[in-house]
Amino acid sequence: MIPSKGYAAQTPETNLAPWNFERRDVGPQDVQIEILYCGVCHSDLHQIKNDWFPGIFPMVPGHEIVGRISKTGTAVKKFTAGNLAGVGCLVDSCRTCNNCKEGLEQYCLTHSVPTYNGKGKDGQPTYGGYSNNIVVHEDFVLHISEKLSLPAVAPLLCAGITTYSPLRYWKVGKGHKLAVLGLGGLGHMAVKFGVAFGAEVTVLSTSPSKEEAAKNLGAHNFVVTTDPAQLKAKRSSFDFILDTVSAKHEMAPYLSLLKTNGIHICVGAPPEPYQISAFALMMGRKSVAASNIGGLPETQEMLDFCAANNIVSEIEIINIKDIHTAYDRMVKGDVRYRFVIDMATL
Ligand code: NAP
Ligand code: ZN
Ligand code: ZN
Repeated sequence: MIPSKGYAAQTPETNLAPWNFERRDVGPQDVQIEILYCGVCHSDLHQIKNDWFPGIFPMVPGHEIVGRISKTGTAVKKFTAGNLAGVGCLVDSCRTCNNCKEGLEQYCLTHSVPTYNGKGKDGQPTYGGYSNNIVVHEDFVLHISEKLSLPAVAPLLCAGITTYSPLRYWKVGKGHKLAVLGLGGLGHMAVKFGVAFGAEVTVLSTSPSKEEAAKNLGAHNFVVTTDPAQLKAKRSSFDFILDTVSAKHEMAPYLSLLKTNGIHICVGAPPEPYQISAFALMMGRKSVAASNIGGLPETQEMLDFCAANNIVSEIEIINIKDIHTAYDRMVKGDVRYRFVIDMATL
């Protein structure tokens, strides 16, 4: 076994604290990655607090992982020691169901293995990226370009692919009006991709103070959602809304902003169910849809797209001992736009 150290929550009630644990030895098709940076996703907080479902504790969060390969198994083909590498939200899946065969491992019909808060095929719990190393089957490891700033690439592994995938699936681009609801980690990547794909992008935000920054990200318009007059002015305006909001929110005010046939795509994952009136959808044949992260081939496609187009996340690098301050600030919407842990501080 490989001795590892990280930050773990021992229970949903306790704060993260240093914890020593072990990872499996490097198997023939595994690589070992020395983690250099790990992004802080709102899902990390949802999971250590048991917001969604009872988690597996101790829990080492973190699924926006970048680092360098330190060891490769005897049968590894894709990587050599010294390569940059990334790991996102998944470290394995059944690989045999129709979805896995299509590269939609995030929708595996039997057993997709999350990077943390899950169990591998060996029945052992998985531990995430708030740690110094990780051992992953090469098929679930991504190539990372040397061209981009490494800490700013980390959030692409979740915030990036989670917004890239639905925008690609629904072919959002030139001629479309896209609204991004919530300007946090996911939201700011959605703005960057929406602009890169040629859409007219409007940010819908509760935070008036984010207007200038939104425009700097490339957004064409900015709407303060707590101002009823601004919302009213945007009625029947958008082809798509990409909803990245992490907390309970009403849907009706936003559905009214969609054009006829418009689609409200949920990627935010508030713990409470949405309440949607049938009439809010009927009046304009509107749809509500959702999307979950992305599969391995599309995640590599997104990373390559980012390298070709010089797209990275806007980040604030933190010391791991400041993780709870970072969570508090994230909940208040006070992050521009992703915290990334410098793992050298572990
Ligand atoms: P984040 O950085 O905290 O951003 C969320 C943003 O939502 C905030 O910055 C804020 O933006 C807005 N917001 C927060 N509370 C709100 C409220 N009560 N009403 C309206 N707006 C509110 O979080 P994140 O990391 O981007 O994650 C967002 C959500 O997506 C989380 O629930 C996360 O678990 C989920 N997620 C889902 C997937 C997936 O695969 N579907 C993947 C990753 C994350 P403004 O200040 O602009 O209003
Ligand atoms: Zn995430
Ligand atoms: Zn499968």
